[in-house]
Amino acid sequence: MDLVLFGIQGSGKGTQAKRLCAEFGFDQFEAGGELRKIAAFASAEPKGEDGSGSTLGETVKSYIDDGKLVPFDIIMQVVKEAILSRPKTQKILFDGIPRDLDQMREFDRIMAEVGRDFRCIEITLTEEEGVQRILSRAKIEGRKDDADEATIRRRMATFFEKTKPVIGQYKVAGKMTEVDGRGTVEEVYEGVKEILQKERV
Ligand code: AMP
Repeated sequence: MDLVLFGIQGSGKGTQAKRLCAEFGFDQFEAGGELRKIAAFASAEPKGEDGSGSTLGETVKSYIDDGKLVPFDIIMQVVKEAILSRPKTQKILFDGIPRDLDQMREFDRIMAEVGRDFRCIEITLTEEEGVQRILSRAKIEGRKDDADEATIRRRMATFFEKTKPVIGQYKVAGKMTEVDGRGTVEEVYEGVKEILQKERV
């Protein structure tokens, strides 16, 4: 069964995802990482004939730099390709998708169409704890969209405004379990593993 991980930026979701993939053989789909790859092509892409207009990479980059969700069609195309390119026997760990209700509806539709079942886990953390963790991560990893507190706050606001309703819907559907994200990496990981075993993911 597939797994969808939720958590505000700074919740340790990425770290947990990597460990889960290594131990349980999930293939990770990291929405933000895939989009950053597309954005990295921004300067290398050919422009329109008259040199005007923005390329896909530039468009994606501008949304990431602003801390806003990239347009629906772009992200859903990337996710759909990722799902279709993997054999059904390969479990997938989704990290950073779906992030709003429109994405959720389309994600559910694609997953049902290809016959993939999934469970969801949210790693919970308050906004302040998340902001503090990201600011210290920016110093280590040098991510531009992590270094600016205003951008971080915008990403947090997007999470509470757009992604929390998705989490609510999956709760109602009985697909969601929460893990307290305040512990050490090890403690959170133990909590996550317990859920996987209980839910037989
Ligand atoms: P993350 O690495 O998850 O913090 O994502 C970094 C940035 O990528 C976000 O601030 C968004 O601009 C973009 N992004 C990541 N996932 C999505 C998504 N599911 N839909 C739209 N934009 C996304």
